[in-house]
Amino acid sequence: MRSIDELDVRGQRVLVRVDFNVPLGEGPDGRRMVTDDTRIRAALPTIEELRARGARLVLASHLGRPKGKVVPELSLEPVVSTLCQLTGAPVSLAPAVVGPAVRELTEQLAEGEILVLENVRFEPGETANDPELAHALAELADLYVDDAFGTAHRAHASTEGVAHLLPAAAGRLLEKEVKTLTGVLDHPAPPLIAILGGAKVADKIAVIDRFLGLADALLIGGAMCFPFLAAQGHAVGASLCEDEDVDHARHALARAADCAPRGDGLAADRRTALPDDGTKATRLCLPKDLVIGESFAEDAPNRILSSVEVPSGWMGLDIGPATCELYAREIAAAGSVFWNGPMGAFELTPFAAGTQAVAKAVAEAPGLTVVGGGDSAAALVQFGLEDAVDYLSTGGGATLELVEGRVLPGLRALDGAGVA
Ligand code: ADP
Ligand code: MG
Repeated sequence: MRSIDELDVRGQRVLVRVDFNVPLGEGPDGRRMVTDDTRIRAALPTIEELRARGARLVLASHLGRPKGKVVPELSLEPVVSTLCQLTGAPVSLAPAVVGPAVRELTEQLAEGEILVLENVRFEPGETANDPELAHALAELADLYVDDAFGTAHRAHASTEGVAHLLPAAAGRLLEKEVKTLTGVLDHPAPPLIAILGGAKVADKIAVIDRFLGLADALLIGGAMCFPFLAAQGHAVGASLCEDEDVDHARHALARAADCAPRGDGLAADRRTALPDDGTKATRLCLPKDLVIGESFAEDAPNRILSSVEVPSGWMGLDIGPATCELYAREIAAAGSVFWNGPMGAFELTPFAAGTQAVAKAVAEAPGLTVVGGGDSAAALVQFGLEDAVDYLSTGGGATLELVEGRVLPGLRALDGAGVA
């Protein structure tokens, strides 16, 4: 992947695809404003470096889901105000995404000045990766920089299409995300502990597959655990558990049994690396106890279940205290940690303890800790631990696809384009 070190940007118009998909709210004056500027601040290293090197910046981002139409509430105008404050630079908003008027504005840019294009998803061609839109975007710049890891798994006009039409490189944020994630997968300090939870089981079966043979232990929590428990013959009651996922889980359990080390599968010192092909013995760990509720609600009747036999009419909504202790012990002994997906319905007070315990253990773990996923990030923020992990990945889907070992279209496009 080419970096911006390899681009000669002075005096050039540089189109930077950023991720300014930030939450908006209403300010005291009734105008829309950015309520969390984390993603804008994350893009500053690339923006500031390019400005300092004399680039003329054209920034492109999506915001929300306008579905190919101009939705005034999803204008990037509030983002421009925030960016102005953060950079102290001259920043202006283009009246549209592409077109002659926008092109004119890019040509008038002075070195160090910033033009923000309107929400790229106002254009129906964006998500369709329409070549016409990609060409129209390419006309707005001389060079292209992708700094939006969160959309790198999507082949869209502003992420993939345009990257083939201009000399292209990865921005600092994208570079850092990819390096950190591939680092933890390719050369993790052992033992590597992978923790997987959350609700979208079908989305994560391939991730489980990747970690079997790679991680020393795979700790499963969240709704993710029920297909596994069901496959082992346990009752799951009304817990989230699709038949199709039970089949996936059965396969994963069979694979895990193939590469399982001897022993009770718990003690960290029982790990045995298989010598031949670099594949490791992975212990697949499932909850031993649960917190169950009568429904997915804040005030639902709930109790601790000291087994994993969920009574009918009840849902497993969190891992139990014995499981928390077990998982925390594994995490404390880790050389590296990868965590995606909360351990339970952490948004609901009675079911937050498992996610909090794992978050705390990850925050205190001495090794490199990498957390990916929108809800996992939200959980860390909820517990005030977001600064205590080494790396909080901004892109949920992109993180998982990278972990699965897939080639992300947005990144592949940065490999193949012509050099300036
Ligand atoms: P991430 O965004 O970090 O990848 P997911 O989107 O996969 O995580 O999952 C987060 C969601 O999973 C949360 O809304 C949480 O309430 C839900 N969840 C976790 N455990 C359970 C459970 N046992 N039953 C139902 N929902 C759960
Ligand atoms: Mg999510």
